[in-house]
Amino acid sequence: MSLTFTNRRALVTGAGRGIGRAIALELAKQGVAVACLSKNEASCGTVAGEIVKAGGKAAAFPCDVSDAAAVKAVCNKITAEFGPIDILVNNAGITADGLLFRMSDDAWNSVIQTNLSSVFFFGKTLGFGMTKNRWGRIINISSVTGLMGNAGQSNYAAAKAGVLGLTKSMAKEMASRGITVNAVCPGFIQTDMTDKLTDEQKAGILTWVPLKRLGTPDDVAHLVAFLASEEAGYITGQSLAVDGGMVMA
Ligand code: NAD
Repeated sequence: MSLTFTNRRALVTGAGRGIGRAIALELAKQGVAVACLSKNEASCGTVAGEIVKAGGKAAAFPCDVSDAAAVKAVCNKITAEFGPIDILVNNAGITADGLLFRMSDDAWNSVIQTNLSSVFFFGKTLGFGMTKNRWGRIINISSVTGLMGNAGQSNYAAAKAGVLGLTKSMAKEMASRGITVNAVCPGFIQTDMTDKLTDEQKAGILTWVPLKRLGTPDDVAHLVAFLASEEAGYITGQSLAVDGGMVMA
């Protein structure tokens, strides 16, 4: 099935590498103009440059997504310089793992702020802009950890489970304005985030994955592109796992 996008503009957070980069490249391949945002100016600049070199439309916007004031400022800048955003992909995320009894307040707060509050900051600002056009797509990247929990990741699991509740509430509030809001829950995907795992940990993880391989960033990007397309217009408030069959509803 080919996907339909009519002059759409997307913002992808955490677009500098890994899953966010794959999402930005896939949307651009589908003809969407992509605002690439990450904390690191060089990395989102490189990805925007790749898109432009391939004949697409893109621009880079560095911003720390955990900083409410910075998000507000960058949303205004993007809307003024790049144009109103139709498709928002909240992908930026971090881990700061540790067992609960040893977890610092900083590890808790930074993960909640970066992975959960950022979805609220961008959803509130850019979602409001979408109501004017009566069309929008918001895709929040959660995790299977938000569905299942994981020892050593109570901060990350709480943030990612929070994203699922936030997604459903946003979907209910925005549906009457033609905006769909969905969450994607990747399993174990080969990126810098999972490169931190030892070979032993990776082998252990594969015993839980019926499809017996780690996922690729493209596996996630293909679902995000579908959810962002015209064809997915009757899907909202859902959480879809891309995890090789690890979590089955
Ligand atoms: P990654 O570490 O490779 O890339 C994360 C991106 O987010 C980078 O571009 C980084 O600069 C950006 N970022 C981090 N903190 C930021 C901040 N404060 N402000 C702006 N940008 C910031 O990670 P990834 O593996 O590509 O993960 C992408 C998303 O997918 C994350 O939300 C992650 O939690 C989620 N996820 C990943 C996996 C996996 O196995 N890799 C599994 C489930 C969910």
